[in-house]
This record gives sequence, structure tokens and C-alpha cells, in this order.
Amino acid sequence: MSYVESVLADVQQRYPEQREFLQALETVLHSITPVFGDHPEYQEGGVLERLVEPERIIIFRVPWVDDAGNVQVNRGFRVQFCSALGPYKGGLRFHPTVNLSIMKFLSFEQIFKNSLTGLQLGGGKGGSDFDPKGKTDNEVMRFCQSFMTELSRYIGPQTDIPAGDIGVGAREIGYLFGQYRKMRNEFTGTLTGKRLDWGGSLVRPEATGYGAVYFAEEMLQGAGESIEGKACAVSGSGNVAQFTLQKLLDLGAKPVTLSDSGGFIYDPQGISRERLEWVMELKNEKRGRIKEYADEFGVEYYPGQRPWSVPCDAAFPCATQNELDKDDAGKLISQGCKVVAEGANMPTSTEAIRDLIAAGVLYGPGKAANAGGVATSGLEMSQNAMHLSWSFDEVDKRLREIMRNIYRATAEAADRYNAPGNFELGANIAGFRKVADAILDQGV
Ligand code: GLU
Repeated sequence: MSYVESVLADVQQRYPEQREFLQALETVLHSITPVFGDHPEYQEGGVLERLVEPERIIIFRVPWVDDAGNVQVNRGFRVQFCSALGPYKGGLRFHPTVNLSIMKFLSFEQIFKNSLTGLQLGGGKGGSDFDPKGKTDNEVMRFCQSFMTELSRYIGPQTDIPAGDIGVGAREIGYLFGQYRKMRNEFTGTLTGKRLDWGGSLVRPEATGYGAVYFAEEMLQGAGESIEGKACAVSGSGNVAQFTLQKLLDLGAKPVTLSDSGGFIYDPQGISRERLEWVMELKNEKRGRIKEYADEFGVEYYPGQRPWSVPCDAAFPCATQNELDKDDAGKLISQGCKVVAEGANMPTSTEAIRDLIAAGVLYGPGKAANAGGVATSGLEMSQNAMHLSWSFDEVDKRLREIMRNIYRATAEAADRYNAPGNFELGANIAGFRKVADAILDQGV
């Protein structure tokens, strides 16, 4: 059994129930296998054994009182996976599906994503099985305060800097920041994704979506094409999907779908800027459902389905993990879809990735394609540390440059290991090499 296989078998045996974590781990370890041939020092130094075990996991009780006066209890998590490259950095997810396996998979992916950004960021992730859907503002505030009362002991501007993820946007970051400030009596950039007036960065709300489109554009340009004029299927309708659409429209592409957990809408003429603004208000202010788009604009709504069956040239999965399976990949391939860029984390199943790459589809894995969000969080940290703010153009220029560098590093690593165009392998190898070297440099 090879070194990689034996480390993997060990983790599989220890945590057989952690399905999502094992899925992420298997994909990364499979991709990086060729590196161990050139670099025996990684095995000698026990790099993998160390890297697969989080440095620290914090699990805590989150008690809060709902509007009816009843006591509710949720579970809170923070997985501080690896700090070899910098303080732990990664979002918080509030969603009923959150469990230890999902937290570990997200945190593990974050290590390599953050490494690819070229910034000094370690990997972490956290969240809770709290469901913000249907809760009042006051309930969300009380929940966030209770969550941060406990979490504030373990984080800090040089230690661990959380941000948003699914279910955690500017509103939640505000309540979390307010509580952190009170608990610690300090005003620092310990959370990112803050509102502009109290330490946030321009472009941070847009960054994940913009970055995914920039990455898709890089992949297409590498193949002598461009996103202009392309019909794009986008899933999700939250922050990432919204700004993916905005950048697609800026670059002359034609986004045709949006979705939520209820189903998807198909607007074959292309979702216009005006309609996108309507969606932003529906989702961000009214907290409505995407079905209402179909009622408002008289287009088709497909309940309980994902958007991968519509004719498209590009696909942007921007909703959640495992939302594009082997069947979906088959449909995309048969329609001649040329590029899949992941705005979400691990949205594509292992079999689907294999089929897409084998069919010659340009596949941009989340750790590369959606790294613009955390990269801009890194830029928010820099601005906070300097106590000044950059203009929109300045941050956007840096984001564009970071996405270009990620593309180059990824493409180069793929070429070097005889898999040109395999951005999955390239991203995993390029992300891993920096972390592995740092782990060796810093001793056991
Ligand atoms: N949750 C985002 C991600 O998956 C952003 C994390 C951050 O900004 O720290 O990368």
C-alpha cells in the first residue's frame, strides 16, 4: 500500500461516518499522489499524517431564547484545521445540515484554497445547525450573540478570523461582531465581511461571484475562447449566485437560471440587470423564494429540480455541496457545455468531476474558482491592520490579479505533472505544496 493510501485508510477507519470529509480528503489525496514521487521528504516528515488531523476542534452549546420565550439549543462548531501558512481563516455556516463532517470538509478545503490565494492565511471553518430561515431579526440576533459569547474565547485578529458562508451574511456578521467587541473590549478586524462603515472592504460582497467568473474567463482564454455571449446556468440565488450573475452581465454573457432549495427558474432570454436587482431585493430584503421570479416574470419554474438540464455553454454551481452529480454532468456534456466553475464548495460529486474532465470540459474546482471571497477577506484584514481603506477599483484590481495568479499556478502544476488542463489536480497540488513545505519548515 502506498503512503497516501495508508494515510487515507487510517482516516477512513477512524472516522467512517464523516462522509463529506472523506469525500474531500479522497479527492485531494488522489490528486496529490504524484507529488510524493518527487518529494520523499513529505513522507519522511509525516506531512500527511499531520495534515489530515485538525489542529483543534471546538464544539459548543448555543442556548438562546426564541420570540415565544422558549429556550432553544443548537450546536456550534469551529474547526481550526491548519495554521502553517497564517491564522485560521474561513467562514461560518448556519444551516440545519451542519455537522462535524461538513465542518471538517469545509475546513480542510479551506487550507488549500487559502494557500492558493498567495496570502498568509491558514484554514478553518465553523458554524451551527441553526436554521435562520423563518426566524425573526431578533431571534437571529440573540442566536448570534450566544454563539459569539462562546466562540469569542477562541478567535482573534492574529489567531482565527471567521467570515460568512451559507446563512451568514452582513446582518449576521454585524450581530457577531457586536458581541465580539463587547466580550473582548476590542475593535479589531477579527471578522471579515463587515459593513463598510465599521471596517469592511469594498468588493467583499461581490468577491466570490466575481472571482468565479474571472476564473472561468481565465480557463476559457487559455483555450482561446471567452465568456462573452455564452449561455450560463447558475444555481443558487444567494450572495455568490447574485454577483456571479452581475459579473457575467458585465462581461456580455447570458445567465439563464437561478435556484434555491425549492427548485429553479429558467429565463431563456437571459436574466437582465433589472431582473437581477429584483432578485437581490427578493432574497436579501424580503427573504423570499426564487419561485416568485416565475410568477413575476412569467417564466418556467421547475420545482424540486436543479438547473443542469437546460441548454448552456457554461455552468456555475453556486449553491451547496454535492448539487451536481454524474447524471447532471452527463446532461451538461451532451449539451456541449464547455466550462464548469464552482462558486460553491464541493458542489460536484467525485464521479461527475471525473466525467467532466474526461469529456474535456474546463472544470474549475471550488478551491480555485471560489477563492476570490476569502482572498478579498484577506485584503479586508490588510486594510484593517493598516487602519485605512482602498477604493473599489483598487480592491477589484487586486482580486483580478489574485484570480489570474491562481489560474497560472494551477495550470502550471497540472502541466508539470503531465495532466494539462486538469485544474483539479493542479489546484490540489499547487495548494498542497506550499502547506507541506511550511509544515516541514516549522518542525514537528
Ligand atoms: N465562506 C467563504 C469560503 O468558502 C469565505 C471565507 C472567508 O472569507 O473567510 O471561502
